[in-house]
Formats: sequence, structure tokens, C-alpha cells
Amino acid sequence: MNGRFTIEQGDITTYAVDAIVNAANTTLLGGGGVDGAIHRAAGPDLLAECRTLHGCDTGEAKITGGYRLPARYVVHTPGPIWHGGTHGEPQLLENSYRNSLTAAWNAGCRTMAFPSISTGVYRFPLDQAAHIAVRTILDFLREHPEMNRVTMVCFDSRTRRAYESAYQKLR
Ligand code: ADP
Repeated sequence: MNGRFTIEQGDITTYAVDAIVNAANTTLLGGGGVDGAIHRAAGPDLLAECRTLHGCDTGEAKITGGYRLPARYVVHTPGPIWHGGTHGEPQLLENSYRNSLTAAWNAGCRTMAFPSISTGVYRFPLDQAAHIAVRTILDFLREHPEMNRVTMVCFDSRTRRAYESAYQKLR
């Protein structure tokens, strides 16, 4: 992928990219995990804009400003809560990645960073989530040669290793 896809370990709130993605919940009114970290770093104006959006369905994506973040935009997507895998969870997770990529692309973004959607409190199995995430991002990059860079920002080493392993199998 000529370096257009990278996997890093870090804190997504520090990334100076066109858009960071938030693993939100369907209210879009803030929560724990990466969602809480993004709202704390962006400041109260982000929550004020989110209130005007009236929530977001699972697998869909809505874009806001980045406010005090170094990123210009935040794409908010509620990933699926894992209920055993028989409730459409894999397709919904793919939708979250693809709809987030499309929302950012349509806003003119050419650099993006993703957290590991649904693998925290939402309990999606990490290896399966990593496979779906990497496959969907690589497909999008092949379809959009002008998307310059998509980074997976993994918060811990276990998550980073799972994404690196998925990438080795898919590249
Ligand atoms: P979900 O509800 O979609 O499972 P979580 O926020 O609980 O979302 O977890 C998603 C992933 O985001 C987890 O791997 C968690 O460790 C990670 N995470 C938490 N804070 C940050 C951060 N500041 N930057 C990047 N990833 C983070």
C-alpha cells in the first residue's frame, strides 16, 4: 500500500490529521474510553455540535469539527456491541469503517486516523475486528488512490499486535 496504511501505538487525540474517528455510542453525547478522551481533548464545543446531530445509528457515521484537537474533523461512528456474532455484528463493524472513510473523504479529508472500534467496552473479539478493519481500509485505499494516509492508532500493544497480524495476512 506504499506506506498509505500504517499501524501505530498511541493516543488518537494527539494526531494532527484531517480527521480522527471516534468510537462513539448512538447518542453521540459522549461516553468512556476513546469517546471520553476525544471529548475531553476537544472541549465543550464538540458536545454542543454533537447535540445538534440527534444521535447516529450503529454502523453509520456523522462528521463534526475538531475544535481544540489538532485534527480538523471528528467522524463519529457507533460500532456494534458484541452479542455473540449472530446479530450482524461483522457487517455493522465493516459499515462503521466504510461509512467513516466515506464521510471524511466527502469532506475533503486525505489523512485519517482510526481507533480500534468496538473492541473495548463493546467486546467485539479483537482478532476478528482487526481483520474486518484492515480489509475495509485496504479496499477503500485501493478504490481511492488520492487518500494519502490512514493510520490505525492502537492504544495498547495487544491491540497493535492484532492489527499487525491481520495486515500481514491481508496485504
Ligand atoms: P467501544 O465502545 O467501541 O468498544 P472503547 O473506547 O471502549 O470503544 O474502546 C475502543 C478502543 O479504543 C480500545 O482498544 C481502547 O483501548 C482504545 N482507546 C481508548 N482510549 C484511546 C485513545 N485515547 N486513543 C486511541 N485509542 C484509545
